[in-house]
Amino acid sequence: MEKIAVIGAGTMGNGIAHVFAQFEYDVTLIDIDQKILDRALTTIEKNLNRQLKKRGISEDQLKATLGRITPKTEIEQAADAVIVVEAVIENDEIKKNIFKKLDEVCAPKTILASNTSSISITELAAVTKRPDKVIGMHFMNPVPVMELVEIIRGLATSEETFKTIFEIAKTLNKTPVEVNDYPGFVSNRVLMPMINEAIYCLMEGVADKEAIDTVMKLGMNHPMGPLTLADFIGLDVCLHIMNVLYQGLGDPKYRPCPLLKKMVAAGHLGRKTKKGFYTYE
Ligand code: NAD
Repeated sequence: MEKIAVIGAGTMGNGIAHVFAQFEYDVTLIDIDQKILDRALTTIEKNLNRQLKKRGISEDQLKATLGRITPKTEIEQAADAVIVVEAVIENDEIKKNIFKKLDEVCAPKTILASNTSSISITELAAVTKRPDKVIGMHFMNPVPVMELVEIIRGLATSEETFKTIFEIAKTLNKTPVEVNDYPGFVSNRVLMPMINEAIYCLMEGVADKEAIDTVMKLGMNHPMGPLTLADFIGLDVCLHIMNVLYQGLGDPKYRPCPLLKKMVAAGHLGRKTKKGFYTYE
């Protein structure tokens, strides 16, 4: 089967490796440290066991999926992949260095995809000599569960690259959606201002946090309220994406709420620090 490389074995990278391997692609999973790779494989096995219990997969499929993932610590191991999906931390400089390196080591026909939430695909493409083969493949968290993949066309992405990635997303049992490269794409362009506005409502005393979340859950049929969701995503991530929208679109309607800035400054980042809009044990 076709060979895929996934760069970065964190929250998203392990999920992306999981789904490609489940749908019979051979996956090379690359991170900087063997310990991170070991942890990623443990997470993948745990998530596969959950699917097994729900009868989503069989015991044989579980074993075969794990058998198709090869962990590696050198980026050069991506050389023979047909597609590389980059899922390292959300940092411009690190991602650009990785794209430059991938462009050097990979075969000319290899497609380089990024799972970035907010960095311009056009800018990542511009550091390579193959901007027509660079594209956004934005999976949602948790990857094995969420059906959507935003497929983002950079300014120079070719039709052939777009069609290939769009069709591959379908083979993973996902629903791909075509989006152009503008700050926040569609997902975060719509989600983050809603969360930001919920934080303004809290700051201005329009309602308390439980009331704001209840209005959106019961009134709009959202599975969780915006403040609960912000705690899940991480308030630092929300602030970062609001700043990307604010700077990238230059419109004051995207200004991050002062309360969001204050909470991030205090280190109250949501679930990961056990304190955000709510407290967690
Ligand atoms: P994470 O911090 O969990 O994982 C990032 C991984 O990248 C780490 O394991 C780190 O060791 C590795 N890494 C860093 N530098 C590297 C290098 N030079 N080579 C190889 N590996 C390297 O981050 P995450 O939450 O999985 O996010 C990854 C990407 O996915 C980001 O671009 C983020 O914006 C995007 N994203 C995240 C979510 C989410 O909900 N977490 C959702 C959609 C998209």
